[in-house]
Amino acid sequence: MIRKGYEESGISARVYARGEEVLKGLQGAFREIDEVAEHAQLKVLGAMRRARVSEAHMMGTTGYGHNDEGRDTLERIYADIFRTEDALVRPQITCGTHALSLALAANLHPGDELLSPVGAPYDTLEEVIGIRPSVGSLAEYGVTYRQVDLLPDGGFDEAGIRAAIGPRTRMATIQRSRGYSLRPTFSPAQIGRLIALIHSVKPDVIILVDNCYGEFTDYREPSEFGADMTAGSLIKNPGGGLAPAGGYIAGTRACIERCAARLTAPGLGKDVGASLGLNPSLYQGLFLSPTVTASAKKGAVFAAAMYESLGFRTFPSSRERRYDIIQSVELGSLAAMEAFCLGVQTAAPVDSFVRPVASEMAGYADDVIMAAGTFVQGSSIELSADGPARPPYAVYFQGGLTWPHAKFGVLMSVQKLVDAGLCLC
Ligand SMILES: *Cc1c(COP(=O)(O)O)cnc(C)c1O
Repeated sequence: MIRKGYEESGISARVYARGEEVLKGLQGAFREIDEVAEHAQLKVLGAMRRARVSEAHMMGTTGYGHNDEGRDTLERIYADIFRTEDALVRPQITCGTHALSLALAANLHPGDELLSPVGAPYDTLEEVIGIRPSVGSLAEYGVTYRQVDLLPDGGFDEAGIRAAIGPRTRMATIQRSRGYSLRPTFSPAQIGRLIALIHSVKPDVIILVDNCYGEFTDYREPSEFGADMTAGSLIKNPGGGLAPAGGYIAGTRACIERCAARLTAPGLGKDVGASLGLNPSLYQGLFLSPTVTASAKKGAVFAAAMYESLGFRTFPSSRERRYDIIQSVELGSLAAMEAFCLGVQTAAPVDSFVRPVASEMAGYADDVIMAAGTFVQGSSIELSADGPARPPYAVYFQGGLTWPHAKFGVLMSVQKLVDAGLCLC
């Protein structure tokens, strides 16, 4: 039955058979993914029950958004889940980059220095920090930046980090997920050890963790390991595919107060910001996020195992434990990236007839190719693939609101590579 369904959907008997063979070896990994999801589901439910969520919280406000009980309660729920004093969860935070930019700009002053102890930050942060000159960057406001690269094996350069911390070091930003690079993703516990190292040199350094793609992939979050702020996007994991926009920052009361003053205005802070009818999707998306994140993780593990079986290099490998939902596959050529992305796009519920091509994109230095047949524009908790058009031509695959869709997307990507004569199956 199922096999016939795949055949009718354009998957050859050989590609399907390989998929089934590969899946046999993944049962243990899938069981572990389900356990993390189960734990996260209890965390989310516990927070919602403790906050006594009720029908009234689904109402929204307009205008100033004074007394938006739904918004305020959702922020208490995020703080509970992340084990922080406070949180800012807003559709007015437009994306992950905005959340990170806000957390940085709100907590740094002229003359301060920002440290990245984990190498180059995510592409879009280069302009936020001013590594690439940009209007409104932190550099323009007299905030300097220092970076300590990871060791060749992906570990922390402890001596380099100690040496880089000076009297002006006010904040450190730690990116959890690999982003568009081929370095390891850090577990919350590893991030905890890095935070302890930084605080052993200078205890008052404010730690921001870029948690994009990391939420609910492990039993605990970086905020439970000493991070002052943890930030991310609602069109990634914690929005569960339902949030139509938004970002969050969970952290200490003092840091969140500054973020709120910067997002709205000093004196207004968290008291304003209408939720505009979005509360139901932010609540329900958070509720679904643990299982949606698990579907995405299964898709990532399956993609890794499938492409390994075809002789490609994958990061992480199908056998490694995962602390984000990103899978990269080194494809070696732009043509192969295009075929892979065409497969993911063809398998999509929206815009399945579109052929993705590499092009310029705001915030990114290189041309980027993206497959995103998503209900929410650019949502990468939905099945999507992207990557910068530069060697080693690695594609970054992520998302999948359901495991069957993620599986179909992986099979279709292989099918398109086979059809283009770019791999044998
Ligand atoms: C996606 C992402 C960002 C930026 O988020 P946007 O919502 O695309 O602005 C930052 N850091 C990492 C690691 C990401 O994956």
